[in-house]
Amino acid sequence: MYYQPQTNLLQNRIILVTGASDGIGREAALTYARYGAQVLLLGRSEEKLRQVANDITRLGAIPASLFLLDYASATVEDCQRVAREIAAQVPRLDGLLHNAGVLGEIAPMMEQTPECWREVMQVNVNTTFFLTQALLPLLLKAEAGSLVFTTSSVGRQGRAQWGAYAVSKFATEGMMQVLADEYKSLRVNCINPGGTRTKMRASAFPTEDADKLKTPADLMPLYLWLMGDDSGRKTGMSFDAQPGRKPGIAE
Ligand code: NDP
Repeated sequence: MYYQPQTNLLQNRIILVTGASDGIGREAALTYARYGAQVLLLGRSEEKLRQVANDITRLGAIPASLFLLDYASATVEDCQRVAREIAAQVPRLDGLLHNAGVLGEIAPMMEQTPECWREVMQVNVNTTFFLTQALLPLLLKAEAGSLVFTTSSVGRQGRAQWGAYAVSKFATEGMMQVLADEYKSLRVNCINPGGTRTKMRASAFPTEDADKLKTPADLMPLYLWLMGDDSGRKTGMSFDAQPGRKPGIAE
């Protein structure tokens, strides 16, 4: 997408990014900070989040705060605790990018192990939902909050071998649609990054030439547009960060 945002697009915005320690989430956190937002970083690795926070400080942007949550073991109470910690630091959330996710096993449905199935559902669906529920009061305090989920092409059209991951992304699309229909003052949308050069992608396609893939930085125009005012009243939609890209391996 071609989009030239104003340099102060996200000034006075408070944005929480989950899975901010690596890959697309790390890049989104840095990008939102660069465009003026106060960014809150959420993830499971304090060390990695601290590095991102240091990078944000080096940009000369508003210093970021860290919040720790391991989605794989998180309970509903843990999600509520994190939401309370966030509410103690900020008066509202103008944006929430749900980006944290796991891939699970690339294997036929017959071979999906119960442990892996449960972990993918726990991380990609359950914790993502319970965290959303706990954070909704803060999001609803914003004048025009933007809630963004991360989907995948296999969350719109099922594909052999993509197992729990594909099913979890169908659930993500559903969560987005239900929430978008329930709240008129909050915009709720999905982004499908499309094949992107990250560690998750490398584990799904270990033999692929990663140089042929877009980098997280290449996707940021859409991530910025959906968080800022230029996307207007768009809600209940699922956007492609790489429109027209054919899903599958980069050849
Ligand atoms: P990465 O594996 O690079 O990053 C995933 C992020 O999620 C990391 O910050 C990771 O933390 C975090 N995370 C994983 N497990 C947990 C957990 N148990 N608790 C808390 N945080 C956790 O992946 P991408 O950047 O590629 O993926 C980002 C999103 O984009 C995902 O939702 C993915 O499904 C989606 N996506 C990616 C595509 C791609 O080609 N890359 C294509 C389509 C969708 P840590 O650093 O600690 O591991």
